[in-house]
Amino acid sequence: MQADYATHRLPLARPFAISRGTRTEIEVVRVTISDGAHQGIGEATPTPRYEQTTEVVVADLERVLPTLRQGLERGSFDRDELARLLPAGVARNAIDCALWSLEAQKRGVGLETLIAEALGEAPLPQRPIDTVQTIGIATAQAMAEAARAEWEKGARLLKVKLDGEQIEARMRAIRQAVPQARLVVDANEAFPRQGLEQCLRLLAELGVEMVEQPLPAGEDAALDEFRHPLPVCADESCHTREDLPALARRYEMVNIKLDKCGGLSEGIAMLAQARALDLKVMVGCMLGSSTAMRAALPLAARATLVDLDGPTWLANDPDPRPLRFAAGTLDDG
Ligand SMILES: [Mg+2]
Repeated sequence: MQADYATHRLPLARPFAISRGTRTEIEVVRVTISDGAHQGIGEATPTPRYEQTTEVVVADLERVLPTLRQGLERGSFDRDELARLLPAGVARNAIDCALWSLEAQKRGVGLETLIAEALGEAPLPQRPIDTVQTIGIATAQAMAEAARAEWEKGARLLKVKLDGEQIEARMRAIRQAVPQARLVVDANEAFPRQGLEQCLRLLAELGVEMVEQPLPAGEDAALDEFRHPLPVCADESCHTREDLPALARRYEMVNIKLDKCGGLSEGIAMLAQARALDLKVMVGCMLGSSTAMRAALPLAARATLVDLDGPTWLANDPDPRPLRFAAGTLDDG
């Protein structure tokens, strides 16, 4: 058994701007686990927002890989053991997804079969999945033009990144440019608390279907104070299944991302728990290649909303068999 990791810098095709800043490249971590005949691979993206820099992630991997290798040799290492060794986050995600990928290959089945089994369901037929296409922060006019360009390429569901500035001007410009498009908004914690209810009402009037994380994680109690005019989704406030009971009283939807929750194992548990709590589920991503998105596809197939457009932001998708993005859908054909 072999287990190793490598880091890769991936330049973006165009700058990606959200409320926290602008990126022109990302760094991903890839873990490969091989039994000689089969190789599992897991990719994860270090995220400074959660104190998960590449250095932190690499240190986590260096610490755990010797135990992992020994355990795999003895046949005694499993994903539960991994969850005991590493906290939810990027390093655990890379290893967890590599273990799922290896198991799928050893059994000669797709990931969908394994995830359906874990959920106690019949596997879903493979079909293209609708994903949002993200519009980064820019001037109102540039955002409207970007929205129209995506619409003309066939995207029908756009996720608009906003900060606390020019919310109305930007959204009116976009709505005018793409009157028919389905819109969701991601504030990445940046909406002003003052006037929040009116702000959400304006979004609802413009036909926005959902707003993601309007307030900072830990300062979202203000969401309790009024009836939401549109569904509100927890992203930065939502990490693992332990967060869900409290979030269910404050949000209508939760964004499950493998890099936050620590991999598919926890993602499956979160999906089951969200269903039990009557929370709608969005499956999202950090920027990353098709390798990272593919791991999330079985969860995405069961979600209300899917945001897995990460690879469309890369200059080059290094996955040997990239997912196909066309007309707002992604396909693993
Ligand atoms: Mg978000």
